[in-house]
Amino acid sequence: MLPQFAYIRPRSLSEAFRMLLQDDAVVHGGGTDLLGCLREGVFEAKTVVSVRSIPELKGIQQIDDGGVRIGALTTITEIAEHPLVKEKYPGLAKAAVEVGSPQLRNQGTLGGNLCQKPRCWYYRGEFHCLRKGGDTCYAVDGENQFHCIFGGDSCFMVHPSDAAPALVALDAKVHIEGPKGKREVPVGEFHVLPSKDPQKETVLEQGELVTAVSVPPPAAGLRSSYRKVRARQSWDFALVGLALAVAMSAGKVTRAGVVLSGVAPVPWRLMNVEEFLPGRTLDPETIVLAADISLERAKPMELNAYKMTLLKGVMEEELTALSAR
Ligand SMILES: Cc1cc2nc3c(=O)[nH]c(=O)nc-3n(C[C@H](O)[C@H](O)[C@H](O)COP(=O)(O)OP(=O)(O)OC[C@H]3O[C@@H](n4cnc5c(N)ncnc54)[C@H](O)[C@@H]3O)c2cc1C
Repeated sequence: MLPQFAYIRPRSLSEAFRMLLQDDAVVHGGGTDLLGCLREGVFEAKTVVSVRSIPELKGIQQIDDGGVRIGALTTITEIAEHPLVKEKYPGLAKAAVEVGSPQLRNQGTLGGNLCQKPRCWYYRGEFHCLRKGGDTCYAVDGENQFHCIFGGDSCFMVHPSDAAPALVALDAKVHIEGPKGKREVPVGEFHVLPSKDPQKETVLEQGELVTAVSVPPPAAGLRSSYRKVRARQSWDFALVGLALAVAMSAGKVTRAGVVLSGVAPVPWRLMNVEEFLPGRTLDPETIVLAADISLERAKPMELNAYKMTLLKGVMEEELTALSAR
């Protein structure tokens, strides 16, 4: 059963910021993740501030530099189906298609997708784990088959968003607004690693909101894609996901965005592969080397080493598919 809370629906951003400064106030976008968390007692909120009636947060528009601005309240379905997104950033459109089920995509928003809470079964279950203020990550000696192989420290959850890695690969920025004003943060710096703070998922401070995400104009010769491997055909979170945004000129890579989902507590940029690919042709030898390099810094846990095999295979298949386009 849902606990009791005050539900407030402001009509302007300034009103929303005032409401959000109250203790325990949380933002409600589509509610697909938030309401489940409140119902299951993952965290508590005295005040739920729905931002659904704030017009500035809606819609997808081309911006002056040729990039695209996507309002935080834009649904995942709108992103998946929008002509500008499909034409300029097919990898992002594909990532959106891979989110949950049609109902979740129709209701879920981009802001909520970036800010959703971890899916770790210890965090979501009745365990007072480190992320909930306890002193242990139960995954370390527990059922860690769905946990991270990169970036684990005190907490070993994986970041659940499919859209976030596609946006990181495209060098997109999150627009944040709060009582102290506006700021912009690259999506690649928006999520917080456990080594910095195991109880925080994003850089947002109390009272702040994601208002939009802007994606820069596609580089010349950009090819983008998103591949998600999950345990079943129906809705599920990524075991391993790979977002690519690779620019090619005269048969050679000029810029590579290579970002993983399902394997780290934040969307995981494979810097070593991003540095390795530029200047090379995507031939079979390069692709096998890139797939080997992608595993270099992985540290599997007792039950999740299979993610290494998956990652290698996905990297080879996706780079091969990209080279043939
Ligand atoms: C069964 C199920 C399957 C799912 N499968 C997937 C999947 O495969 N891939 C995937 O990526 N996601 C998945 N999700 C997660 C999620 O529901 C969707 O990603 C959705 O996009 C979240 O958006 P929302 O607007 O409903 O978020 P909400 O539930 O409204 O919010 C989620 C969190 O973000 C915060 N928030 C919301 N909007 C803002 C904002 N503008 N600024 C700051 N904070 C904000 C809320 O306070 C809350 O903590 C799944 C969820 C469920 C329940």
